[in-house]
Amino acid sequence: MRVLIGGGSGFIGTAIKRQLLNKGHDVTVLSRTPGSGKMTWSELKATGLPACSAVISLSGENVLNPMKRWNDQFKLEVLQSRVAYTKTLANAIQQATKKPEVFATMSGVGYYPTSLHAEYTEDSHVDDSNYLTELCKQWEESGQTAESTRHVVIRTGVVLGKHGGAMKQMIWPFWFGVGGKIGSGKQYFPWIHIDDIAGVFVHAVESGSVEGILNGVAPNTVTNLQFTQALASAMWRPAILPVPSFVVNLIYGRERGQMLLEGQKAVPKRTLESGYQFKYPDIQSALEDILK
Ligand code: NDP
Repeated sequence: MRVLIGGGSGFIGTAIKRQLLNKGHDVTVLSRTPGSGKMTWSELKATGLPACSAVISLSGENVLNPMKRWNDQFKLEVLQSRVAYTKTLANAIQQATKKPEVFATMSGVGYYPTSLHAEYTEDSHVDDSNYLTELCKQWEESGQTAESTRHVVIRTGVVLGKHGGAMKQMIWPFWFGVGGKIGSGKQYFPWIHIDDIAGVFVHAVESGSVEGILNGVAPNTVTNLQFTQALASAMWRPAILPVPSFVVNLIYGRERGQMLLEGQKAVPKRTLESGYQFKYPDIQSALEDILK
């Protein structure tokens, strides 16, 4: 099977590519920059969709990039880098004479409003509207294509892995013994191991029947405090210095700080029902693997 991955050069794309290659599939990465095994977005626009059985869309500017100020310009970049690039792939699929079997697109658990009490499955009806929920809604809608192509939307939580993502930033304070919970620590911390988010995408591509929304989060949900304690314990370090809310808001801005100070309990109900078996269902086994 040949798989085209938009935004496949990053942390998650590299893990998906590795799993697909190990299973004997061919992979082409769509990127803004040319390179070996890559196709550029301008080439896609010029020549149309290459022959492929599956398309994956991952492109997106990192929302929590601390180097970028949270202003209207950056918010537009965050939106455009998801919606416009996913839409470009959806249009290319629409116009292709031979359509791929499946289009798997990335979204986030930010689709669900933050709450200390609610539990969200893929079937939960959501009314609330804020920047993040709207971002995810528009991201998901931009991937709508012709009916003959299966569309799978994967709403991921925080992806934990050795070689990128949030772990890179979180690990250092703990290493120096100054790590701690963020804000109250009571907020949910929806997480997934990098091998599992890649596994869910591969499952969506390979399984002929999976369609619609899948929550890309581990089945054993933890709060920020529980995650902090598990990380400190796995690193044999204390977790005594909490990061106060005002510091988070100062660094990230209030709207973006909300992603760290508030959380949502998303559970992978449809993901499990569809037959996906998590390699790392609990935070202890995931951290043990990442830190070994
Ligand atoms: P990376 O930043 O590692 O990779 C994303 C890829 O998207 C990049 O390799 C880049 O490809 C492309 N990209 C980045 N910025 C832009 C931009 N401004 N415009 C167009 N393309 C861009 O991200 P991850 O692999 O970690 O994540 C993949 C997707 O999942 C992203 O959309 C991310 O926001 C989302 N996500 C990730 C989470 C995580 O914990 N990692 C959690 C929730 C969502 P190139 O330079 O080759 O064009």
